[in-house]
Amino acid sequence: MVEFEQVDVLIVGTGPSGTSTALHLIQQDPAWAGRIVMVDKAVHPRDKLCGGGITHMGLNTLARLGLELEPQSFDVREVRLLYEDVSYSFFGNPVFRIIRRAEFDHWLLQTAVARGVTVYQGEAVTDIIPHDDYVQVVTENHAFQARVVVAADGSRSFVRRRLKWDDDSRVARLIEVLTPEDARTQPEFRDGVAIFDFTPMTTHQLQGYYWDFPSFVQGKPYMNRGVFDSRARPERPKADLPQTLRDEMAERNRNLDDFEIKGHPIRWWSKDGRFAIPRVILVGDAAGADPLMGEGIAFALGYGTVGAQAIADAFRRADFSFATYREMVLADPLFKQLEIRTKLARFAYMLRYPWLFRLGWQAARLVIRFTRWRDPNYVPVIPPSASLSVARNP
Ligand SMILES: Cc1cc2nc3c(=O)[nH]c(=O)nc-3n(C[C@H](O)[C@H](O)[C@H](O)COP(=O)(O)OP(=O)(O)OC[C@H]3O[C@@H](n4cnc5c(N)ncnc54)[C@H](O)[C@@H]3O)c2cc1C
Repeated sequence: MVEFEQVDVLIVGTGPSGTSTALHLIQQDPAWAGRIVMVDKAVHPRDKLCGGGITHMGLNTLARLGLELEPQSFDVREVRLLYEDVSYSFFGNPVFRIIRRAEFDHWLLQTAVARGVTVYQGEAVTDIIPHDDYVQVVTENHAFQARVVVAADGSRSFVRRRLKWDDDSRVARLIEVLTPEDARTQPEFRDGVAIFDFTPMTTHQLQGYYWDFPSFVQGKPYMNRGVFDSRARPERPKADLPQTLRDEMAERNRNLDDFEIKGHPIRWWSKDGRFAIPRVILVGDAAGADPLMGEGIAFALGYGTVGAQAIADAFRRADFSFATYREMVLADPLFKQLEIRTKLARFAYMLRYPWLFRLGWQAARLVIRFTRWRDPNYVPVIPPSASLSVARNP
């Protein structure tokens, strides 16, 4: 006979979206810690394929939780956007930070553990069956009856697949390599520059960009180089991603054959998507992230804010339909921005004629001059003390 553990909130996945949900619940009331169980098939510190760029939106969510980034990070002070020989830059102090996900996710989860959350690592969820009064969740080592399940299990979400989530969300394709670098001589390391090169949009029919992100892996400098293909226009043929990466790296005197390519998708955000069914909500990549730039960490953390509000609300009202969760997500400023980005992606990645692209590029260059991002001393992150006073969940 199977022994079921009774739990109020079972979170599947301990990436930033799952852990943020737990931390936000505990911020509302420390008693939540004893009511949450988190499960992950991996054991932290685990590798997660990612550029590791966290923008001020993500850092501000952490600050509202009273957290300052502890893992080693690389401060990007200039984001240079390239198209052929024309570039323009966003400046800031910093514009964003680059972390390694193994370290970041481990640190965030340890914070939740320190606040009392129970975490089972190294056991995959293998089955999930919703009932009227609970959701039955089976892992490799446990069986649960959970009053609420949070699917925070990423773009390839098992929970979505198992529950035959019926919507038409799409995925972007990404591949990346890590190349060892000399931080003293490499200009990107020296000057704090991250590069997004959109030239392959017209040379390789890519619906996205090539990136160079300076980062540190266990204290050693590496360039994270990759290709993002949004597939915003699915009717157009797929770009050859390895060839695109190969050609872009060759221009930077690197040979792709010397490195191991890894790939992973990002599920698209769609405001028309289904974000919940009774007793189960989606957060993070399982729900959908940014098809314009491939940003997901800040949104994953932000889903945690909204998800926690929805869960607390459900228990308060004893209504586990989560009928209003989608409206709550759509009303949040972070996700309003995600909706704008989705529209922009569909427009920007439609452009395939070089002359038209150049025109758009010059216009964007002009617009930047009227924003705060032209100032290298601009600090977009709210300091933790100030942010605590504007916390959404005091
Ligand atoms: C190549 C690449 C580069 C990227 N670069 C950036 C970037 O620079 N900046 C940025 O903001 N975003 C970036 N992203 C996006 C970002 O990585 C994601 O948006 C983010 O990881 C989403 O977090 P999450 O918590 O929703 O899911 P994840 O971080 O994917 O975590 C999901 C967790 O669920 C667990 N899991 C999965 N299945 C099961 C199961 N059956 N049972 C138990 N556990 C399970 C996994 O082990 C994992 O720990 C990039 C993505 C890719 C692929």
